[in-house]
Amino acid sequence: MNKLANTSIQYIKGVGPKRKILFGNLGVDNIEDLFYLFPRRYEDRSRMVELKNVRAGECQVVAGDVLRQSARRSYYKRKHVHEIVVTDGSGQITAVWFNQPYLAHYFKVGSRVVLYGKAEVYKNRLQMISPEYEIIDRGDEKLNMGRIVPIYPLTRGMTQRYLRKIIAAGLDEYLDELEDVLPVWLRNKHRLPNIRRSIQNLHFPENAQEQEEALRRMSFEEFFLFQISVICRRMSIVRRPGVEHAVSGQMVEEFKEQLPFTLTAAQRRVIHEISADMQKTSPMLRLLQGDVGSGKTVVALFGCVTAFRNGRQAAVMAPTEVLARQHFESIQRMIADGPLSSMRVNLLVGSMPKAEHERVSSQLARGEIDLVIGTHALLSEGVTIPRLSFAVIDEQHKFGVRQRALLSSKGQCPDVLVMTATPIPRTLSLTLFGDLDVSVIDELPPGRGDVETLVFPMDEAQGVYGKVKEILRQGEQAYIIYPLVEESEALDLKAAETMYKEFRTKIFKEFRIGLVHGQMKNSEAENVMSKFKRHELDLLVATTVLEVGIDVPNANVMVIEHAERFGLSQLHQLRGRIGRGGKNGVCFLIADPTTESGLSRLEAIVSTRNGFEIAQKDLEIRGPGQYFGRHQHGLNELRFSDPMRQIDILELARKEAEETVHKDLHLIEPQNAGLKAVIAERFPGFLENVEAG
Ligand code: ADP
Ligand code: MG
Repeated sequence: MNKLANTSIQYIKGVGPKRKILFGNLGVDNIEDLFYLFPRRYEDRSRMVELKNVRAGECQVVAGDVLRQSARRSYYKRKHVHEIVVTDGSGQITAVWFNQPYLAHYFKVGSRVVLYGKAEVYKNRLQMISPEYEIIDRGDEKLNMGRIVPIYPLTRGMTQRYLRKIIAAGLDEYLDELEDVLPVWLRNKHRLPNIRRSIQNLHFPENAQEQEEALRRMSFEEFFLFQISVICRRMSIVRRPGVEHAVSGQMVEEFKEQLPFTLTAAQRRVIHEISADMQKTSPMLRLLQGDVGSGKTVVALFGCVTAFRNGRQAAVMAPTEVLARQHFESIQRMIADGPLSSMRVNLLVGSMPKAEHERVSSQLARGEIDLVIGTHALLSEGVTIPRLSFAVIDEQHKFGVRQRALLSSKGQCPDVLVMTATPIPRTLSLTLFGDLDVSVIDELPPGRGDVETLVFPMDEAQGVYGKVKEILRQGEQAYIIYPLVEESEALDLKAAETMYKEFRTKIFKEFRIGLVHGQMKNSEAENVMSKFKRHELDLLVATTVLEVGIDVPNANVMVIEHAERFGLSQLHQLRGRIGRGGKNGVCFLIADPTTESGLSRLEAIVSTRNGFEIAQKDLEIRGPGQYFGRHQHGLNELRFSDPMRQIDILELARKEAEETVHKDLHLIEPQNAGLKAVIAERFPGFLENVEAG
């Protein structure tokens, strides 16, 4: 149906089997992919300056031929220096790069080059230090010079000019076959250019305005499709018959009395919201947001108990075994004696022996377990929970939409509660979780200690360790956290391991120390963490694996090394581990920030403990794609649009999407057939259940 998506990139002249593989690295397999390869940025080469007119002190674009090139070592620092002299007939300029010896293989005498950078006068000659550079093919100048030029993401072995040439050739040949998914009336209404013009102008705009309009249209399209998928998904779920739970005032009272503490007002409010949803026929789809330690578990437990009281089953799914066990233990504690002790609660995790796994599965299938708590093991094929009427998914950002649907499918249209400790500003939650109702716990339980946050430069780390020692001697426990950044994983890990040895043999040798990191076997890491929980270890050295909610009330001290390298929300989540159990906590940040964003992260973390404020700041600093991580809510599939900066288009798109779905719930009318196909392609999985509705 979609011809361009089925036309291999190899049909374009100049793309052979080898280049096809390179395109594959960029995620481009067919012509449609190529059209949707979005430039990273643009360079305005329309105002190319003749060399005789170059002005010192200004950034300018110049072009010319390489007259000669040379490499040498500088006198002072023995740096490698590469120089080329470029002429355009009207004058000359020298371009200089340091420590890039490979440039000698890139430029050749006679190459035509474009340089962009700040010109200056040095020893009476015009020069640019480390300008941006590009070799231009003769004959392709109309693509690469004298215009606004797209700069694409590249892969090894591919050049900008080659990519531009192929895209231009693709546009020439295939642009006319591109079909518009947005109907004419909708485009007219919002003054959006058609798809052909937009794609053309996204790649080769004549001016900035054309590019902006094209981007606006592409963003609108993307938001629109995304919103339709989100709304359809919600409609298809809430229109199914779920379980009408009975909830009585007495049941709620009984539940509260059973608890070892008094609920906060926020918890009571959310319990009320959940209870109202559960009494309805239509299945609940609710997102529960609450900061680390705000007490989400007990709220989830309320739903589980309600299911139990209605003769049904409930399930809680956590992202890791440690967390699943933690929920299991704390829930068992909360219902230990009293009327709820007849509730049959079991654990189901991957590390269980096969026999036990099977035993739990068959008990679940026979309805002999009322509440099962587990990991994604709950999703395995053999598991069914026939009377499941309430499902909880903890730490939503570790699970995708598919897993949510899969858990639901273990029973028949259960009420679903998704819990997250990653707060989402209001502007965004509608977009990303438009299919969920939202509850918020915006208050921490009383008796939380203060957490003092102190920043020290790296060369004062020894002093910090000294303070930690004093605290350990008083019988408390502490964490020391190391960053683990993907790009430098091996190096980082080495740092953590080296320091761990150093700690064990020297600095903290009088104490019991454990190490956990992400590359350990799961069972091994879990083992160390459990030991720490049981206070068989005093000090836990860890890479960021700790983030996901481990709860050790006796550990109230945390040292975060290289704190400038952590994301803001990460820091917040980490720090949220301490100051529990009614004691005050201390969080030492050891940091030497060198970037502006590093500084602003530290500033934010020191100045507030409010999760929502921190989330807002973090989103501002990083943008939502980064903030939510990969594979989230289709965010990764958003290529053109930025939900933070394009709220106005977002809202337009949402309104139109709502109307579209309202008129044609299953997108079965002929004019929506195209829409449906495109959505299925771009947001796979999102429409999976729509048909069934
Ligand atoms: P989170 O929202 O991070 O999942 P938890 O549900 O794990 O938080 O709760 C954190 C701790 O606070 C637990 O030890 C829990 O027993 C306790 N807690 C929860 N609600 C209250 C309350 N209303 N009063 C006192 N302690 C509470
Ligand atoms: Mg939790």
